[in-house]
Amino acid sequence: MLKPLLSSIIFSVMVLGARAQVLIHKDPEISACVQEVNTDSLSTYIRKLVSFGTRSTISSTTDPQRGIGAARNWVLSEFNRFAASADGRLSAFIDTVTYTPDGKRVSTTIHLGNVVATLKGADTADHRIFIISAHLDSRKSDIMDATGDAPGANDDASGCAAVLECARILSKHIFGPTLIFVTVSGEEQGLLGSTYMAKKARAQNWDIQAVLNNDIIGSNNSSQTNIEGNTQVRVFSEGLPYYNLDKEASIIRQLGLENDGKARSLARYVKETGERYVDNLGVMLIYRNDRFLRGGDHTPYVENGFAAIRITEMNENFTRQHQDVRTDKGISYGDLPAFIDYAYLARNTQLNLSTLANLAKSPGLPQMVRMDTRDLTNNTHINWQAPKEGSPHGYYLLIRETTSPTWQKKIFTTQTDITVPISKDNYFFAVQSVSETGNESLAVVPLPGR
Ligand SMILES: [Zn+2]
Repeated sequence: MLKPLLSSIIFSVMVLGARAQVLIHKDPEISACVQEVNTDSLSTYIRKLVSFGTRSTISSTTDPQRGIGAARNWVLSEFNRFAASADGRLSAFIDTVTYTPDGKRVSTTIHLGNVVATLKGADTADHRIFIISAHLDSRKSDIMDATGDAPGANDDASGCAAVLECARILSKHIFGPTLIFVTVSGEEQGLLGSTYMAKKARAQNWDIQAVLNNDIIGSNNSSQTNIEGNTQVRVFSEGLPYYNLDKEASIIRQLGLENDGKARSLARYVKETGERYVDNLGVMLIYRNDRFLRGGDHTPYVENGFAAIRITEMNENFTRQHQDVRTDKGISYGDLPAFIDYAYLARNTQLNLSTLANLAKSPGLPQMVRMDTRDLTNNTHINWQAPKEGSPHGYYLLIRETTSPTWQKKIFTTQTDITVPISKDNYFFAVQSVSETGNESLAVVPLPGR
């Protein structure tokens, strides 16, 4: 005899196999934050960053007007400006580390600096950290040119603008866990700044649950294929995890979890949350860690076992990126502010902001999530324990077909176990904690157990 199956069904995004209406439930606090994203602010940040001439990681750190040093000091001053109205919750500093010549992209000793702003969580028992990152450094066509103009308006002042705008808006709010807003250096020199930060986080056991890396998020047209559009954005995520794959490969293979690693699961969360809060923006999930021939600052995090994804514009123009400003055979090159679509950048910023805010307001992950596989049955029984952080209003059981990229059905319960008449053989399941205001944790896939 089955006990009552579900305490209630809040909504089902789709009846499995058949499309239905989608009920959108927004948290008013997050909606208000999303509305605060301002195209003038974004434009001001980018023009200011471009005004430093070059932000090459190997450029001057002492010139007050030109180079990476002046740029990072300005970012720090912006964070400090936001901190002034954050009641002591926001603090910022430049985390510096010395690199000596490496025979590759560092030719002299440099004092690399990541500008880090921390919005300390209000709950001292909550050690979760959510990070938004972009890279401050820019480059010329010649990666070793430390002095010539390298405006980097889109790559990656656009990402830095999103980081600053999220810090400006979210630092006025109080969250249980901690948010970190960071603009790193050394990306173009070989992901140096993010590698330094990810290794430090691993060594110090930071409980980083999500890293949103924004790199090139402000332009709306593609070179070669000449496609224009500002209503889609890409989220890149690794499938099989780089970290500890040798240890986890057999369980991944046995359970078919190739698409349920930390990064892919975070990407799915970004899509669901972003599309809930941001109009006219579709998130295209790309099932690979990054583009061909390119790297990004999420990679050192995934290599150190953290959930990290890359957010990048839909249509890339390679006559802009990594190119000296010039005109050649009638084609203009260079990464200038005039080629940014600020309305598009604003939507991509809203995508980040809504995701960060929803995570920051979510209870912790449900613990010890287990699927009962002892008996041959067409019912599925899953149980779990309450999260360590926050106080959940309840939980969502998530269900999707094994071939579906996103969760299709969501069942709400206030219990910590659930039985559904849906076969575990035919669907994927996961559990999220959810707050009173509908803010979901990341999804946890059950392991076989009892
Ligand atoms: Zn970049």
